[in-house]
Amino acid sequence: MQQPVCCQDLKTSAKNYIHRVWQETWDQQILNKLHNIHPSTSHWAALPVRRHDVRLTRLRIGHTRFTHRHLLLGENAPECPSCKVPFSVSHILIDCPVFNHHRITFFHTSVLTLSDLVGETPHQNLFAFLLKIEFLHLI
Ligand SMILES: [Zn+2]
Repeated sequence: MQQPVCCQDLKTSAKNYIHRVWQETWDQQILNKLHNIHPSTSHWAALPVRRHDVRLTRLRIGHTRFTHRHLLLGENAPECPSCKVPFSVSHILIDCPVFNHHRITFFHTSVLTLSDLVGETPHQNLFAFLLKIEFLHLI
């Protein structure tokens, strides 16, 4: 004789299955910019100030008004005048040597990864750095 299945057990099993499929799908998205920063499908807490949380999310996905507005306006992509490469969040936050002095000031190193700055726990000086390099209001 079969035992009846508890509704809660069924719900838990379905949730676990869906989460496992979601994680397996996400594991294959290695070219997605966010994948490097957030390889797990686990939930990350939002910042208490909505305005900061929106900016942090834009940095994590690599889409800001400054780096992507040209797509809406039909213009050429903005280019770093020093490095002669298109501006990207990665270039601004970790690659461009123009900001190395500020990176050392705010992060005590000029060798960083995006995860160091915008990972699950964003660097405590991230917004001060963004303000100093005048990028904060362009996000
Ligand atoms: Zn540059």
